[in-house]
Amino acid sequence: MNLADINEVRKILELSGFSFKKSLGQNFLIDETVCPRMAEFSIKEGYGAIEIGPGAGVLTRELAKCAKKVVAIELDKRLKNILDQTLSDFDNVKVVFEDALKIDLKALIEEEFKDCNGVAVCANLPYYITSPLIMTLLQSKLPIKSLTVMVQKEAADRICAPVGSRDAGALTVAVNYYSTATKLFDVPKESFLPSPKVDSAVIKLELLDIPPVFVKDEKKFFSLVKACFAQRRKTFLNTVSNTLGIDKQTLRNALSSLGLPESVRGETLTMEELAKIADIIF
Ligand code: SAM
Repeated sequence: MNLADINEVRKILELSGFSFKKSLGQNFLIDETVCPRMAEFSIKEGYGAIEIGPGAGVLTRELAKCAKKVVAIELDKRLKNILDQTLSDFDNVKVVFEDALKIDLKALIEEEFKDCNGVAVCANLPYYITSPLIMTLLQSKLPIKSLTVMVQKEAADRICAPVGSRDAGALTVAVNYYSTATKLFDVPKESFLPSPKVDSAVIKLELLDIPPVFVKDEKKFFSLVKACFAQRRKTFLNTVSNTLGIDKQTLRNALSSLGLPESVRGETLTMEELAKIADIIF
């Protein structure tokens, strides 16, 4: 079975009467070059793989060829019969029909990947939950080595932008706190069925053992980061005092102790500056 062949995928989906649900971000890959590359970037010798949203199983099959074991988490139970067919050649794949945002991943990893050298997440993510999924995977302190994921191109550019640059957002800071982010390659919209309105890109986030900066309280640090990007056109002083209710003099003192001007905007601050300010003001 050549699932990378658009006609094979179409045939299987048509025969089962499958209709794509936009609300579930169902744009399935039909470009035969993409899935092998994603699997190759993601999986090292002896690794286990977690896939979120296997769809018709095109990426799942490539992961199963490289990984010791694959666990694929799919929300849409209508895909069961299709996946039973497309994954029938592999005995190292398990499909779990659950919501990837709600499943207990820590328990799943402990149970399913005991004898693997490491665990990597590899997925063509449903676009409507890209940010919360990436944040959940990074913040849960799971024993995961990397996330190799397809996201919309705009999200990829934002995530991989340097902290402090124009393209960066709160997600950029969070991603760079937990991992090293690299954009691997672009994927045009024509590579999907149905074709979405925008292009995509594959990024790889390699999880760090230790964050690049030390902060006393991660929760408070991230509340400051969120506040800095809440009102992008305002100065740091105004947006942070408005959003977090911290008095301006405390913020002025923090800025001056770091030699930063009062007019600085939050989005231009580096990770180190944000960490130091958080430790001073909270
Ligand atoms: N991996 C397939 C591919 O590349 O062709 C399908 C990718 S499609 C962009 C996203 C998949 O995620 C769909 O199969 C969709 O049903 C599934 N999905 C959507 N929301 C989900 C959730 N909360 N948890 C798990 N899977 C979800």
